[in-house]
Amino acid sequence: MTSSYKPIIVAIDGYSSCGKSTIAKSLAKFAGYTYVDTGAMYRATALYAIRNGWLHQDGINSQALQEHIHEINICFQPCPEGQGQNTYLNGENVEQEIRTLEVANGASKVSSLGFVRQEMVRQQQQMGEKKGIVMDGRDIGTVVFPQAELKLFLTASAEVRARRRYLELQAKGEDCNFNDVLSNVMERDYRDTHRTESPLRKADDAIEIDNSNLTPEKQDEIVKQLFLQKVL
Ligand code: C5P
Repeated sequence: MTSSYKPIIVAIDGYSSCGKSTIAKSLAKFAGYTYVDTGAMYRATALYAIRNGWLHQDGINSQALQEHIHEINICFQPCPEGQGQNTYLNGENVEQEIRTLEVANGASKVSSLGFVRQEMVRQQQQMGEKKGIVMDGRDIGTVVFPQAELKLFLTASAEVRARRRYLELQAKGEDCNFNDVLSNVMERDYRDTHRTESPLRKADDAIEIDNSNLTPEKQDEIVKQLFLQKVL
């Protein structure tokens, strides 16, 4: 992708279902930057473990996953329809499969393993070598790119986030109820902020945006202004 702005790294972190990917995609499009959804990378890793029978409701066979971690290759390709991008796991398009609640839960579990994070961070740093990138996740401003020129930390109440995720799942025809989605959001928040490996926290130099009561348009405008202040 070509950009008319000088290449910088934009790190967007925050809780699950905060609208990070919406804002990150929109900014990447505006800037002519590459967008990297690091949550999709943890989801693809979870899917790999589920398919191999190493990750299920009762637990995880972390030894088997560790032995095969270097066989996991994740990349992104623009959708042929021109809207957004697809996630590829070892060459296979897994975009639909990684968006289920089961995989979301699995992602939250595998992401607490040190060797998984090490491998994902390595792949992410490689993707950002040339800058001109918008990356979203939980540890982008703190671990992956502590030197990022622009760091944003998004928040919204758990109820607002669960409502958004519930409507998304319903629109996709997934059978779910609001209370399950809310407990899923709260469980993931707990795991994200309490794990020993790179827990979710706001980097000291990140700008916090609470979008509970912001329209997507207003949020877009705020973020574009912050970006322009850094690149012009
Ligand atoms: O953002 P998304 O919901 O797709 O992320 C899936 C899971 O991956 C999250 O629950 C979180 O635990 C984990 N994750 C992470 N670090 C990142 C991105 C996602 O631990 N940089």
